[in-house]
Amino acid sequence: MAKPIVAIVGRPNVGKSTLFNRISGGRVAIVEDQPGVTRDRIYRDAKWLERSFTLIDTGGLEIAEYENPFSDVVRVQAEVAIAEAELVLFVVDGKQGITGEDEKIAEILRKTKKPVLLVVNKIEDFAKNLHMEFYALGLGDPIPISASHGMNTGDLLDMVVEALPEIEEDYAPDVVKIAIIGRPNVGKSSLTNALLGQERVIVSDIPGTTRDAIDTPFERDGKNYVVIDTAGMRRRARVDEAIERYSVMRALRAVDRSDVVLMVIDASQGVTEQDKKIAGYAHEGGKGCILVLNKWDLVPKDEKTMQKYDKVIRSELAFMQYAPTLYVSAKTGQRLPKIVEIIDFVAEQTNRRISTSILNELLADIVRVTPPPTDKGKKLKIYYVTQAGVKPPTFVFFVNDEELFHFSYRRHIQNRFRETFGFEGSPIRFFIRQRE
Ligand code: GDP
Ligand code: GDP
Repeated sequence: MAKPIVAIVGRPNVGKSTLFNRISGGRVAIVEDQPGVTRDRIYRDAKWLERSFTLIDTGGLEIAEYENPFSDVVRVQAEVAIAEAELVLFVVDGKQGITGEDEKIAEILRKTKKPVLLVVNKIEDFAKNLHMEFYALGLGDPIPISASHGMNTGDLLDMVVEALPEIEEDYAPDVVKIAIIGRPNVGKSSLTNALLGQERVIVSDIPGTTRDAIDTPFERDGKNYVVIDTAGMRRRARVDEAIERYSVMRALRAVDRSDVVLMVIDASQGVTEQDKKIAGYAHEGGKGCILVLNKWDLVPKDEKTMQKYDKVIRSELAFMQYAPTLYVSAKTGQRLPKIVEIIDFVAEQTNRRISTSILNELLADIVRVTPPPTDKGKKLKIYYVTQAGVKPPTFVFFVNDEELFHFSYRRHIQNRFRETFGFEGSPIRFFIRQRE
C-alpha cells in the first residue's frame, strides 16, 4: 500500500519543525548509514499505530523570494500542500493568537476537500483554553498541543491516523512500476513521451485510482509496465508549473509507488546538489534505480567521455554505487530502447531472494578470510544471517553485541554480498539483532 503524505503548513515560528521532529523522531534506524547521502530534511517517514505515512515540513520548501515576494511564500506552501498531500496539519501559535497571515492560510485551506487538522501549538497550560479562539478560523475543532513538550501529540497522531485515507494499489504484483524523477528541465517529460512513443501504450479508461495521478500502462513482449504519475510532466498546465517546481511530494509519491526509479540527470550540466537530494529519495525509499544521463547529444565527446562521466557520477553520487548509468538522448532517441531492458534487469534484482544456507556459507567464508575486529578485548560474533525481505533485499544479522558490528565491517560484508549476488541497481539493507 502506498504511503499517504501528511503536510505541515503554517507561518514561520509557530513550531512546524518542532512538531515535525517530534512526530518523526521515533523512526526506526536502519543500520546502513551511507556517508554522502544529502539528506533532504523536509520529509521523513513516520509510523503511528501501524500506519505509515510520509511527513513533510512545507516550511522547509525553498521558495525563492525573487519569484515569490515574501508574503506569498506561505501561500505557495499551503497550495503545494493541498495539491500534493492527503492530509494537512495547519499549525498556529496558541500563545500569539490569530494573525492576519493565519487568516490568509485558513482561507486557502477552507477551500480544499482534503482533510485539515487545525493544530494550536505552544499550549502548555490546557486549563486556560487559549485554543478556543481558533474556532474563528472556520476549520473545525482546534487541537491544543505543545510540540516542544510533547503534550497531547499522541492524541494528535491518533487523529492523523484516523483522518488518513486508505491508498489502494491498483496494479497486479507482476506489473513493473516505473517512476521518472529529476529536477525541472532535465527532460523527464521528453523522456516519458519518447519512451512511451516506442511502446504499446495500453489505452484504458480506468483512471489511476490513486487520486489525480495519471499513470500510463504499456506492454512489451507480453510483460506489463506502468509509468507512474506522469500527470505533472505531461500536462503542462500553468497552474501546475508553480507546483512542479516544489514537487518534492510528487517525486516522493512516485518513488514510493514504484519498483524502479529512472533518476534523470542533465548530462550537459552534470550532477547538482538538487540531483543528489532527489536521488536520495530513491535510495532511502529502497527502490531500484537507474541513473539516466539525458541530453547526451549536447555533450562534446571522444571515446573516453563516458568513462570520465561514470567516474564523476560515482564520486558525486557515492551512496549509489549500485545504480547502473545509461547515456541517452530523448531528442535523438539514442539508446532509448535499452531503457526497458535495464528496467527489467533492475526490477529482477530488487526482487531476488537468497536462501539462508547459501547466505550463511558465504558469511562463514567472509568471517574466515577477514575475521571481525575485536574492540576492547571483545570480539564480534555473527551467529546467523537471513534474508527478511525483498524490494529491497533486506538481511538480518544475529550477533552477540551490535556495538561491535562496526560500519567498516558491515560495509565489507555488503561489498562481498554484492560481489557474490549482484543486486545491481538495488539498494540492500542490513538490520542487526543482538542475541546473547
Ligand atoms: P517553524 O518556523 O514553524 O518551523 O517553528 P520552529 O519549530 O522552528 O519553532 C519556533 C520557535 O517556537 C522555537 O523557538 C521553538 O523552540 C518554539 N516552540 C516550538 N514548539 C513549542 C511549544 O510547544 N511550546 C513553546 N513554548 N515553544 C515552542
Ligand atoms: P522536464 O521538466 O524534466 O520534464 O523537462 P522537459 O522534458 O520539459 O525538457 C526540458 C527541455 O529540455 C525542453 O526544451 C526539451 O526539448 C529539452 N530536452 C529534453 N531532452 C533533451 C535531449 O535529450 N537533448 C536535448 N538537446 N534537449 C532535450
